[in-house]
Amino acid sequence: MTEFSNFGLAEPLLNAIISQGYETPTPIQKQSIPPLLEGRDVIGVAQTGTGKTAAFVLPMLDKIAKQPRPPGAKRCRMLILAPTRELASQIANDARVYGRNMRLRTTVVVGGMKPRPQIKALAQGVDIVIATPGRLEDHMAAGAVSLAHTEVVVLDEADQMFDLGFFPVIRRLMAQLPQKRQTVMFSATMPKAIVELAQEFLKNPAQVAAGPTSKPIEKIDQRAIPIPFNEKSDLLAKLLSEDTTYRAIVFTRTKHGADRVCRKLEEAGFAASAIHGDKTQVQRVRALSAFRDGHMPILVATDIAARGIHVEDVSHVINFDVPVTPEAYVHRIGRTARAGKEGVAITFYDPSERGLIRDIERLINFSLLPEGEGGADPRERSNRSRGKKPGQGASTRRPRDANRRPDTGNDRGGNTANRGGNKRPKKRRGKVPQRNGS
Ligand code: AMP
Repeated sequence: MTEFSNFGLAEPLLNAIISQGYETPTPIQKQSIPPLLEGRDVIGVAQTGTGKTAAFVLPMLDKIAKQPRPPGAKRCRMLILAPTRELASQIANDARVYGRNMRLRTTVVVGGMKPRPQIKALAQGVDIVIATPGRLEDHMAAGAVSLAHTEVVVLDEADQMFDLGFFPVIRRLMAQLPQKRQTVMFSATMPKAIVELAQEFLKNPAQVAAGPTSKPIEKIDQRAIPIPFNEKSDLLAKLLSEDTTYRAIVFTRTKHGADRVCRKLEEAGFAASAIHGDKTQVQRVRALSAFRDGHMPILVATDIAARGIHVEDVSHVINFDVPVTPEAYVHRIGRTARAGKEGVAITFYDPSERGLIRDIERLINFSLLPEGEGGADPRERSNRSRGKKPGQGASTRRPRDANRRPDTGNDRGGNTANRGGNKRPKKRRGKVPQRNGS
């Protein structure tokens, strides 16, 4: 029995949780699941990596398991809105995993995919639709689906939806939902616009938080490195060659920047792929799945493209370009140290960008600048180092031809992450490069 059994969740869900190996609910799950099971509205501040998806999906599945009923043609019982296709697909995967012992019909409704299969799935009626707002509105306008009988609606990563300009369409969608419903909202940060939206649509919500607003996950070893622009590529290659770097996301500010960095890495013999808004959905899905299964240990991404990346065991986030807003920094580094694991986040900056770093420091209340650059005593910073996992390769660098074939062995390519079974590898202490002269 796990602590999950205290929630009174339906048996099929408990069994799925046990098979997943979850032993205790995460803090956000402890706070959110009881009020959601009571049918209350919930507003939650939680970054990705805190277990927030299960926090809202498990109570939805519980309701479907305990109050089964056909959704009805062109209707959905529950709706989850997400800012990106990748996030929507990831939520759908999680829902299928948690709901695998029960009868459940889920459909992903996102742009960039053919609409016909989505229309067909909606026609039969669906338990949970996971959608990006624009495509859902298109289907509603075409009469493919109605929200008039939807019982639960979740807005995930509300701050990203705001940044992407989705609030007008969200307001139109919300107007189509019945008054009597359960509304749930999760956001990594809680700016004024989100609070206002919550006041508009949530009734007496339970407020939950996985930690102080806008604070990054504590287990991340974070630092900023001053470096002139023309030396960034060499330093990046050096960091990616380190033993402790086995799966990394490199962030750039622009799509061209992402392509340029990716090209340079490939020239230097790294297995990298870029994802950004100009890539087709097929390219993005392919790059993400190669990253997830370890064939492609480096992903170069822009902020928007990276929003839906939910990959375990990302050892490093490297900000090749300083994020333009402090909130974007929090989102970027949230890609590592997921679910209580450790991770490293390194930010390259030009001396002229020191102000941007200071803004980030103010938001996260944590010193990033090195000593002598106006930073705090480095001893104040987290001094965790990251252990490489056996079987996950020595580093991200590998011969280029290895990009083109699936790897089956433990070569030094770093492309075998998460392969070779589900054994939790033993950690060993590893030095973090470029740190205190080491
Ligand atoms: P999320 O914040 O929803 O993206 O979740 C991050 C990761 O944590 C997911 O890959 C989940 O599989 C994992 N996770 C969620 N809940 C738990 C739990 N109670 N114990 C361990 N891992 C969990």
